[in-house]
Amino acid sequence: MTAEIISVGTELLLGNILNTNAQYLSRELADLGITVQRESTIGDNHGRLADFVNEAKSRCDLLVFTGGLGPTADDLTKETVAACFGDELAFDEAEWEKITRFFARSGRETTPNNRKQAMVPTKGHKIINNHGTAPGAWFEQEDHCAVLMPGVPHEMKAMWTESIRPLLLARQNCTLHSVTLRVLGGESNIEYRVKHLLENANPTAAIYCKTGECEIRITARASSEEDGEKMCRAYATKFYDLLGDAVYDEDVAGLEETVVRTLKEQGLTLSTAESCTGGMIAQRVTSVSGSSEVFGYGFVTYWEQAKTRLVGVEPEVIAKYNVVSAPVAARMALGAAAASGSDIAVSVTGVAGPTGGDEVRPVGTVYLGAARGDTVYVQKLFVSRPDRALVRARAAQAALALALRLAQGKVPAHTKPLAASEQHSAAALDALNEAFLAE
Ligand code: ATP
Ligand code: MG
Repeated sequence: MTAEIISVGTELLLGNILNTNAQYLSRELADLGITVQRESTIGDNHGRLADFVNEAKSRCDLLVFTGGLGPTADDLTKETVAACFGDELAFDEAEWEKITRFFARSGRETTPNNRKQAMVPTKGHKIINNHGTAPGAWFEQEDHCAVLMPGVPHEMKAMWTESIRPLLLARQNCTLHSVTLRVLGGESNIEYRVKHLLENANPTAAIYCKTGECEIRITARASSEEDGEKMCRAYATKFYDLLGDAVYDEDVAGLEETVVRTLKEQGLTLSTAESCTGGMIAQRVTSVSGSSEVFGYGFVTYWEQAKTRLVGVEPEVIAKYNVVSAPVAARMALGAAAASGSDIAVSVTGVAGPTGGDEVRPVGTVYLGAARGDTVYVQKLFVSRPDRALVRARAAQAALALALRLAQGKVPAHTKPLAASEQHSAAALDALNEAFLAE
């Protein structure tokens, strides 16, 4: 089946609002195995809209509209599409009653132009709107369909999931099943490795980039839920084979959820010592319900003296190596673990910018520490875009990734260890510092 998405509204053309409806529908239609051939935006103009609908109808099977279902004169999608699909609209008592009741509940009275919203197709059918007053509409003529939904995003999404999606699935005789893999790492690197898996017709797989990680959504169309699940599982295996443990979980809200769950499973506790992230790691961990079982202390050590007083970083270490350095990150993590008695501790110290920084430590330079038992691992992160929010978000993400690896009992990748015997050796701290500066 081929489709076009048509967004109706002059305010979209004027750039007053972002067309999020089209983005949502593109993704949803792709999951249904429906090929979206074109996306268009048309202003609130009857003539231009009618011309466009007639053209689009000759090009594809399904036209998906949003917007222009309201009561005002510029809301003319339904009338226009009805005419193009050889349908007529008729007054629907039930819809009218619903609209009247809706208005009464908010202490308002309907006006004559509200009657427009109660007009529904006679050959096609209306689509119930459980979240607003404007019903949607379905028109059909000679194997071509048009579906009309409201412009208001939450009403559109609800109508899509409650009514339209099931209708389209039934038409295609299938069910949908999806699984979302969460993968640590940057998009270009991951996409490069799995590129050939992203061009499959069924299951489909799509990659979405987030800060410091990617989401790979696998969606299978099948005749039963069980088959769909099997297909997704088999396809997911191909990603695991290529990406290994970079895939950290499936169907979770974020890395913090996996970190908390893993800590619980392993019976471990975590603490944090944060400088440039100012508590973001603690915020993410505590956003997970039940995190109090595994997280008790989050130190925000923004000032140098706070690093000394709260997590015991020796002032000489800061003076010798700089506050943004591998030895300080190592000391912060060890100090947080000692002060809190936690099994694992992670630390962050960096230059978030956009001001500050120097040649040795440009804006975007971050050192992270991760301690478990008597070993501490240090990682350096460099975010080349001097964007404060991005640097902080990437740093928090990297710290959570370190916490996860330690909770899994693994040696975190791209880190340098400092064993217990080396932690008080000036030569070992010098060597660690130098090794990172040389990178
Ligand atoms: P209403 O009954 O509110 O008039 P409607 O179905 O006629 O609804 P529009 O008037 O086109 O829809 O849009 C209503 C509001 O929905 C817009 O002001 C805008 O905020 C939002 N909206 C419309 N189209 C889109 C879109 N494509 N993407 C995101 N938001 C949109
Ligand atoms: Mg409107």
